[in-house]
Amino acid sequence: MSISDDPGRALPTVVVIGTGGTIAGRAASAHDLVGYTAGQVGVAELLAGLGGAEEGPVDVEQVAQINSKDMDLPVWQRLCERVAHHLGRPEVAGLVITHGTDTLEETAFLLQCLIRPAKPVVLTCAMRPATALAPDGPQNLGDALRLARHPGAQGVLVACAGRVHGAAEVSKVHTYRLDAFDSGDAGPVAQIENGQVRCWRPWPGQGFDAVPDGRKRLQAFLALDGLPRVELLYSHACADGEIVRALLAQSVSAGGRLQGLVVAGTGNGTLHHRLEDALAEALAAGVRVVRATRCAQGQVIPLTEDRLEPSRGLSPVKARLALMLDLIGH
Ligand code: ASP
Repeated sequence: MSISDDPGRALPTVVVIGTGGTIAGRAASAHDLVGYTAGQVGVAELLAGLGGAEEGPVDVEQVAQINSKDMDLPVWQRLCERVAHHLGRPEVAGLVITHGTDTLEETAFLLQCLIRPAKPVVLTCAMRPATALAPDGPQNLGDALRLARHPGAQGVLVACAGRVHGAAEVSKVHTYRLDAFDSGDAGPVAQIENGQVRCWRPWPGQGFDAVPDGRKRLQAFLALDGLPRVELLYSHACADGEIVRALLAQSVSAGGRLQGLVVAGTGNGTLHHRLEDALAEALAAGVRVVRATRCAQGQVIPLTEDRLEPSRGLSPVKARLALMLDLIGH
């Protein structure tokens, strides 16, 4: 659906794709900032709330209307397919995706791995529902629209609270604060101040290699009935590894054969020795094992004697996605 046309100025089109989230949330009271239902307000209505501030033609498409904590493969597949479709339209400058904050970093990472767009694909969100007395969604959405038209911007980006993050580094770091995202050591890619984009470092783009040949996996991903089974574990005091043995014992389950484990280790991805023993059994059984870190910042630095694959700079949830994508087609 096209909600504003401006052929006179011949500006390129931005496509806004709605998936739900708090940005589209409704609460019974304007003062209730936590007891709301996510994914209620349509994306066309969210745009209408900007009062015509968008600068040029905007197409809208509602791909889903969910709380992003419930993100699943069919929604991801539909989103990837629609993103690839709209990026292929020559008149489209960039895309905006409204999304819940909870799994936003996973969707951003997935899109960057599978599509590596040469145009900007900007995910945006809100920490307060649309019905709040002072919602943050309209400002974030307006910023995202600006960014989607910004000359030279490319790659999958996240616009939230005036900061622009890259898909590889961004994580949700706060449960309540409006500025809920952070890029750790790398810092944000840019800032948006009063509609002006101030860039700090190169746009994430074509050189991204967290998943080798990720783009070649898009068609295989779209055809999947289920994702390869990769579970996420923590190392912690008194860990005994029995969770790993239970997973291995469950040779076939509703979720399919266990193909991978990502373990969020302590510090530089170190593991309790009992958990490490159990993970060695998993390796021997043909399960891929990646060691990430439960530290909020810093990367896992490879060791010469590494038996497990280090996650390098990827957070545990992104390392899990990277491993799943690597397993597709193998
Ligand atoms: N649970 C919501 C979601 O991820 C939270 C949010 O959008 O902030 O959709």
